[in-house]
Amino acid sequence: MIMNLHTHTHNSPDAKQTVAERVKAANQLGLRFMAITDHVEINRYYPAEYYHAEESEMYFYDGCGVFARSAAETAAAQADCAPLRLLFGAEIGQIPQDTEKAALIYNDPRVDLVLGSVHELPDMPDFYFLDYSSADIPALVTAYFEEVLRLARTDCWDVLAHLTYGMRYLPDRRAYDLTPHRALIDEILQTVIRKNKALEFNGSGLRKPQPYIDPELTILRRYFDLGGRNITISTDAHDTKYLGFGLDLLEDMVRAVGFTELTWFDKHEPRKVAL
Ligand SMILES: [Zn+2]
Ligand SMILES: [Zn+2]
Repeated sequence: MIMNLHTHTHNSPDAKQTVAERVKAANQLGLRFMAITDHVEINRYYPAEYYHAEESEMYFYDGCGVFARSAAETAAAQADCAPLRLLFGAEIGQIPQDTEKAALIYNDPRVDLVLGSVHELPDMPDFYFLDYSSADIPALVTAYFEEVLRLARTDCWDVLAHLTYGMRYLPDRRAYDLTPHRALIDEILQTVIRKNKALEFNGSGLRKPQPYIDPELTILRRYFDLGGRNITISTDAHDTKYLGFGLDLLEDMVRAVGFTELTWFDKHEPRKVAL
């Protein structure tokens, strides 16, 4: 197992365990690179009181505080993590909604990599919480990819995280036909390539009863065919028990597509490791 560049700790409101516990598990697994990327939903950067709102399962706030705690804890763990190379970053949600605050995190000197994510559309909850029974699903998926393209066109990110997240909770995701969205997906992939950023192959869906990967293999192949060579692998672990889950399979799939190297980041600089 080479890498897991997308993991959450107890600093994220929906995840468990300390950075030190995660480091210990990573070394037991033999991981060479791990990134701590706790959640910063940039549209809820300040504590809930700032917005006269309440923290809830649906809406968590204080990305600024999460980032500060995660940074301090990761810096302490970096002093004693060998042989693992411990990278520090953040998963920033909804970057196009506040690029100035996203830049604050991106430009923090401790940050190796920022994962750019779209978890929700403007003025809507996370896709996880949507009621799909009454939704116009093709329109929703189009709006999702348009928002990802908006994200890709900003500069405060290094890795495009879980492309196809907006389809993750569709009633029958695996039967959903992506054909009408291919041109938009191509535009997203070409933007990643042009900017020399990376695409993530996110295996969190491998632990579901009907397993999936974000993005699916057809999109990964398309990225490769278009010339994309910067690829990261992750399990998006919110719990140590999923730190290595499916990593071997993800590596095999990436290799089968034709990639010979994986990408990691040293202070936003893409670096390669043989696959
Ligand atoms: Zn995410
Ligand atoms: Zn995540």
